[in-house]
Parts: sequence; C-alpha cells; structure tokens
Amino acid sequence: MAVTEARAALPGVHRREGLPPRVRIWEVGPRDGLQNEASILPAAVKAELVTRLVAAGLTTVETTSFVSPARVPQLADAEEVIALLGPLRAAHPAQGAPLRLPALVPNLAGLERARSCGVRDVCIFASATETFAMKNLSRSRAEALEMFAPVVAEAQADGMGVRAYVSMCFGDPWEGVVPEVDVVSVCERLLEMGADEVSLGDTIGVATVGQVVDLLDALARAGIPAGRLAVHFHDTYGQALANTLTALECGITTVDSAAGGIGGCPFAKSATGNLATEDLCWALDGAGVETGVDLGRLVETSMWMAARLGRPSPSRVVQALGGREVGTKEEGR
Ligand code: MG
Repeated sequence: MAVTEARAALPGVHRREGLPPRVRIWEVGPRDGLQNEASILPAAVKAELVTRLVAAGLTTVETTSFVSPARVPQLADAEEVIALLGPLRAAHPAQGAPLRLPALVPNLAGLERARSCGVRDVCIFASATETFAMKNLSRSRAEALEMFAPVVAEAQADGMGVRAYVSMCFGDPWEGVVPEVDVVSVCERLLEMGADEVSLGDTIGVATVGQVVDLLDALARAGIPAGRLAVHFHDTYGQALANTLTALECGITTVDSAAGGIGGCPFAKSATGNLATEDLCWALDGAGVETGVDLGRLVETSMWMAARLGRPSPSRVVQALGGREVGTKEEGR
C-alpha cells in the first residue's frame, strides 16, 4: 500500500491540552457487545475476536459472562471461550502492560464458575436506580449491593481484580433523570466493599456533557478519586464520544468501548450500541493521546466481525475506513 494512502486513513495529530497523555481502553465488545446481538456466534469465533483485539493493541478485553445461560444465551459458552483463550494468555509477553481478560459474574456461583476455569479479573454489575435493579437483578438496589459484597470479598481474597459496573448513572427509562446523589451512594458502597474501580454506565445513552461534568464533580466532592472510575457511554443520541472526551477533561483515564460499536442493553429498550472503540481511537489519536491501539488492525477486526454478525458496524470510523485498505501505525506513521 502507498504510504500516502495509509496516512490518509489516520487523523492528523494535534495535541489537545486538558486531555490525559494516555487513556486505558477497557474493551467490552466480546461481552457487552455480543450479549446484545441477535446472532449467537460459535465459541471459536468469540475467542478469535478477543485474540484479534489483543493483536490490535488492546490489553484489557472483557471476554464473556458467567450469568445464567437462559438469561443470556449469546454467552452460554463462557467456559469454552475461556479455555480457547489459554494459548493467548500464555503467549502474552511478560513485559509491558499486563494482559487482562475479565469476565462478568452475577453472584458467588458465577464467581466459582469463572475461577474454576482460570479467570483472574471479574466484573459485577449494580444499578443506580431501584427500577432497573428490580428488572435486571430482581432485587432492590440495596439488596443487590449486599448480594455482591461476598462476591467482591471472595474474589479479592483470591487476589483477583474486581470491577463494578453501575447501570443507569444518568437516565433511566422508567425513572427519568437519575439524581447524582443516588449514583454517588452506590459508588461509595461498591468501593467500600472492595471493588478496585467503578464504571459509570449511561445504559440508555441519554447523558450530555454538562451532566457528565456535574456527576464527576459530585463524585469528586464525595472523595472518590477519578483514578477509581471509568466511563461507559452508549451512542443512542450520538453523544457517546462528546461525553467521553468531557470525562477525560475531568480527569478520567479509563474508558469503556466496544470494537465496531456493537451491543446495547437487552433490558432497556431504547439502547443502541456502545461507544465504538474505533471512533474513540480516531479522536484520541488525533488529539495525541496514547492508547496503544492500532486503528487499522482494529477496523479490520470489526469488518471481520460485522461479516460474522451479518450486519454492518454502526461505527462511523469503521464505515469511513472499512471499504478501503487501512494503514497500520507502522505503515502510516
Ligand atoms: Mg454497554
């Protein structure tokens, strides 16, 4: 490929002050993305997706979920996927950022399933609102938190990493705008019980930039450091990237996204896909923010995935670059 053609497929770099020099991307496509797709893919395809994402430079890739197979049939093969990833774990170089392949666990039984096949990082999922806690976890918000306390304690006693998701941090389809105080109290409880970090989910994608600043301010005033938080935006109203960049300006350095923008939320009807990792990387590459991701390889992966899912990627960057050969960083810079 001609160098000029490769360069045209990468943004010009103009360092933007106020953004962190480096962002950790927590890739959620294989779990949060695929659990919400209509197609059920073979375990080998899921494992190949994770492998390709790691080859594209992502070092934290959420792989699967140990929730009830009846509830999420798309991820019923969690054990098989983890087993297929054994060689990837073994091959990852010891130097540099460690490879983390977390999985979602709903309770102690899920934790045991994950642990018994070698998972070392787990994620739990709480809700900022009562209605969504009842719909998603069949418990009140407080009861759900107490259900997670022994899961966090056991995982940590075993030296595992623990991340907590909080759904509906900005808006809830049944309750409307979510008060900041509710999000703060759930985050405080999750950190108090020992979670390493909390990911703030805009599950239905309604947040706007001022609301992001206000919530992060409220969390900071409560004494929760930005380093213990991540943001997880959905693009329902086209705001995911703007909200993410705003959060980065507020000191957040961990961002959730899904390659190709796949996924949504099965329990919230209006939700569309996650922020696309490609759209995030285009913006961060252009602003001179290091992510470690090779955009060209990532786009190729999402094109490959879209063919398996039988639908085009909703990512604007994948749409813009997918029809052409995309330069890797080695070729294009
Ligand atoms: Mg999501």
